[in-house]
Amino acid sequence: MILNLIKVHRLISRAQLSKLSKMSATSISRIIAELINEGLVRETGQTSSGVGRQAVLLELNPSAIFTIGVEIDREIIKAAIFDFSAKSITEIHQSTAVNNSDPNEAVDQICSLILSLIEKTANEAARYCSVGIGLPGVINSDEGVSLFSAQMNWKNIQLKSLVEERLGIPVYIDNDQKVKALAEYSYGSAQNSKSTLFIGIGSGVGSVLMVNGNVFRGGSNSAGEIGHTTIDPNGILCECGRRGCLQTYIADWALIQEANKLSPTQNIDQLFEASKTESWASSIINRAVMYCGMMISNAVCMYNPDSVIVSGSLVESYPELITMIEEQCNKFVWEPYKDTFKIYSSELGGSANLIGASVLATNKYLEQ
Ligand SMILES: [Zn+2]
Repeated sequence: MILNLIKVHRLISRAQLSKLSKMSATSISRIIAELINEGLVRETGQTSSGVGRQAVLLELNPSAIFTIGVEIDREIIKAAIFDFSAKSITEIHQSTAVNNSDPNEAVDQICSLILSLIEKTANEAARYCSVGIGLPGVINSDEGVSLFSAQMNWKNIQLKSLVEERLGIPVYIDNDQKVKALAEYSYGSAQNSKSTLFIGIGSGVGSVLMVNGNVFRGGSNSAGEIGHTTIDPNGILCECGRRGCLQTYIADWALIQEANKLSPTQNIDQLFEASKTESWASSIINRAVMYCGMMISNAVCMYNPDSVIVSGSLVESYPELITMIEEQCNKFVWEPYKDTFKIYSSELGGSANLIGASVLATNKYLEQ
């Protein structure tokens, strides 16, 4: 708990720790002495400001412990080593068709990427406490199993134990959107937010609700699959096999599919380029934006969050969409909810998955 308080506050005095933890000054001094002795915490040269006796400030020792964050997606594996203060030390990417190969091959690739990262950092004294992995699909995070992932073509893959067996380091896994929301809460747009709704828009549409820093998981860790809420039972076929899911109006593949009914379009960039001059293209984008605004205002009715973070490849490539979505959301949102929440873009963008995977690893280490 004390380590966590120091992590959250970054710089903190013993007196502040005593106040926040409701523990005596003597207990705090004893615990801090132990943590300093173990090399996890250090005294900084700085002292607290303000009136009264100046106290020495403490911080985490960034090189005490290292975690490894891994991001897996359908065609890429990324891995990075992070220090205790969540700073990325080395990062490595490998393009590979994860979705078209045997999951055991992906496990081999993940492990060899991690081993080459460790070799690259060449710090023999470094302690690697754990590995965090963020990946798409339905995850049993307690057991470390990828239950189902349409993107990766995976079913019941015991990812945690497979990687642990090869590396001998504890491994924790979670859904990529949940991991990203965790990163935004810890280091990005959602810091200090009590209830955050995180929305991801890209090849799919997902959401994560975070309350006081905890992910709301639901009964089977699947809460937030907002992209598969039915909008039109006779609508377009979704990749889940049902018709008219919300994401068939928003996801990048759905927009390209819709565009191809009107004019040959290979990718999302072509659609956005065409939208500058062609009304058929801009109407597809405007419709997607309208559904995004509607989705957020519906979710606000259900959860009453204080902040909404809109993230994902689509808004990262086209940040102007955020303002457009905000305008649509303001049109739809019910009066009592007006001005009760703010819409933010992701502060961490494409790095959120790796950072979040490392935060997952660090949090699990601190929970032990
Ligand atoms: Zn669906």
